[in-house]
Amino acid sequence: MSSQARAQPVAAAGFDVLKVRADFPCLQQEIHGRPLVFLDTAASAQKPNVVIEAQADVLRHSYANIHRGVYSLSQRATELHEAARARVQRFLNAASHREIVFTRNATEALNLVAQSFVRPDLRPGDEVLITGMEHHANIVPWQLLADAGLKLVVAPISDAGELLLPEFERLLSERTRLVSVTWVANALGTINPVERIVELAHARGIPVLLDAAQAVQHIPVDVQAVDCDFLVFSGHKLYGPSGIGVLYGKAARLEAMPPYQGGGDMILSVSYAHTEFQDIPHKFEAGTPAIEAAVGLGAAIDYVTGLGLDAIAAHEADLLAYATRALQQIPGLQVVGTAREKCSVLSFVLDCAHPHDIGTLLDLDGIAIRTGQHCAQPAIERLGHHATARASIGLYNTEADIDALVASLRRVVAMFS
Ligand code: PMP
Repeated sequence: MSSQARAQPVAAAGFDVLKVRADFPCLQQEIHGRPLVFLDTAASAQKPNVVIEAQADVLRHSYANIHRGVYSLSQRATELHEAARARVQRFLNAASHREIVFTRNATEALNLVAQSFVRPDLRPGDEVLITGMEHHANIVPWQLLADAGLKLVVAPISDAGELLLPEFERLLSERTRLVSVTWVANALGTINPVERIVELAHARGIPVLLDAAQAVQHIPVDVQAVDCDFLVFSGHKLYGPSGIGVLYGKAARLEAMPPYQGGGDMILSVSYAHTEFQDIPHKFEAGTPAIEAAVGLGAAIDYVTGLGLDAIAAHEADLLAYATRALQQIPGLQVVGTAREKCSVLSFVLDCAHPHDIGTLLDLDGIAIRTGQHCAQPAIERLGHHATARASIGLYNTEADIDALVASLRRVVAMFS
């Protein structure tokens, strides 16, 4: 291999973004007469044809309720559903498919842990330790335990949006029942040092939940290597369908937890006096699940692993660096969240225009970004803002998308200055 070829970045060498874009029908359209530039993947990702087709195929040819049919169609649907679980297991490198619980989304997975892991033997004054950059989904479920005396403790972050690790360590106490932190912060893009966080907590015997809702689509995740006790994510941010999410839990943890919801499918036997529950993971999956969405999630996992998480990460890192450099040239623009370790997310404010005005004007140019607090109000306020504009990058974004964003932002600046 020539030195020139070796010097090529992974993205350029192994990732054909234009070919990838062709897999996403929703990107092939115009908005207000302009080609759609989709920069809101952190909120929800667009879906490739293979995901759309996998779901449609189940609905057309293999649909029946699962786990309870003696007939062939039901057994086929069950096999497809359980094959999706096995794909999630391999994707996370979990030790067993029993450790993969399907939920509606990351939010439901967090609520499940709050109600079934933390609540049952909670004593007044027990604590859950989070960070100052969490999504509301990793704040509110713990606040719902306040009636039982739970105290929510928040490890502070720097002005750059990085976790202050010594402060975090100091806040670990004998009352800490759980550490629950985001792997990647959705409003700021900060990548947390999750291996170190787990190490510090485990040294004190404290279990750790990782919110990987913004991580699994950008970073290769290995739950055994990182050694977290729980991990949650949503299918829709991983180029899969909405309505399906995942709770990973170490088998011993899940086995010791009571069910989250009761109903059909999660039981072995029911009488009016006594009900016996299924083994994990089914004990936590009451009622008919999102069958076709699980299959769609399996297809999404095949899709991203086929492209390669390392190649995706390299492509997105190149693009984030390109976008950060370009946005910093715009007069009056301030990037919000400047952690050294970042991925995918670029939050910013303009001194001349409110984020909602920026978002509305960009939409007229066909550019989709998110504006507001991104379900992370305390984090945005900690960095001194009421709201930000947020461009977020997915595997299908290009330098041309960033160029369009920059040109449109320059028009906004010209209009308001
Ligand atoms: N955590 C993080 C870091 C997120 O970005 C999100 C979604 N924005 C969630 C949790 C909640 O995900 P969902 O709404 O799919 O449950």
